[in-house]
Amino acid sequence: MSGRRHVIVTGGSRGLGAAMIEGLLADGYRVSTCSRSKSAAIDKLSDLGGDDFFWQSAQVGEADQVDAFVKAAGEWAGEDGIYGLVNNAGVARTGILASFPNIESEKLIQINLIGAIQMARACSPYLLKREDGGRIINISSIIGARGYNGMSAYSASKAGMDGLTRALARELGRRQITVNSVSPGYVATEMSSTLTPPQMMQIVNRTPLGRLATEQDVFELVRFLLSDKAASITGQVILVDGGISC
Ligand code: NAP
Repeated sequence: MSGRRHVIVTGGSRGLGAAMIEGLLADGYRVSTCSRSKSAAIDKLSDLGGDDFFWQSAQVGEADQVDAFVKAAGEWAGEDGIYGLVNNAGVARTGILASFPNIESEKLIQINLIGAIQMARACSPYLLKREDGGRIINISSIIGARGYNGMSAYSASKAGMDGLTRALARELGRRQITVNSVSPGYVATEMSSTLTPPQMMQIVNRTPLGRLATEQDVFELVRFLLSDKAASITGQVILVDGGISC
């Protein structure tokens, strides 16, 4: 097995995913990502990463597309295989459940939860082949554990993700593959841009640290969990939320 570590981060076209990939490339990882559309951030990451960066259009939640993407990423990485998977791609929709269309709930669960399961399944053979262990990190949300008005389906998808984390940690532990959830609070990205300024202010006021977590804050935890220093941490849901859940 070569010394280079290749990590798949889903949903790298903006927000937390793009920030993580930039940090991982700077740390010397090879990184591949997928998203439904190409973006300015993907062009920037291609310039930064050169031969260490791979992007392919793929829709997480569609099993055939997930399998094709992971196969292409594995072939691209060659003997580096796949060391880590960060299940980051996700969508959020808000609405009171009584009037929330069933189709929207189904789409959300399909992407956020089923998509993460599909990705973990497709990456598992690569991870299991390694002798140096591996990493799966699920980007969950504090809303998975706490709930939030108007976010039932989203909350359920993230709670499901945390269940996936615990079960897979047991299943893969003997092979030194760790599985953890990283649960951010509110981070200023396109996803949280639907919050109104008063809602945002209320969240900041309730946060012990008096500020939102940043993309960099989330990346620092992902960086640590991917490192050898975190080899004994598995099956955990770790919050990066400025203390709002305490
Ligand atoms: P974002 O800015 O909306 O970015 C989401 C990313 O996921 C984009 O790259 C998007 O690209 C991709 N994506 C969405 N659906 C996809 C699909 N079916 N297949 C492939 N890619 C898909 O969101 P973010 O704030 O960075 O969120 C990243 C993760 O953190 C999500 O799982 C989210 O639930 C979680 N999170 C965010 C916050 C927050 O406050 N921002 C808080 C807690 C947890 P395309 O649209 O081009 O496909």
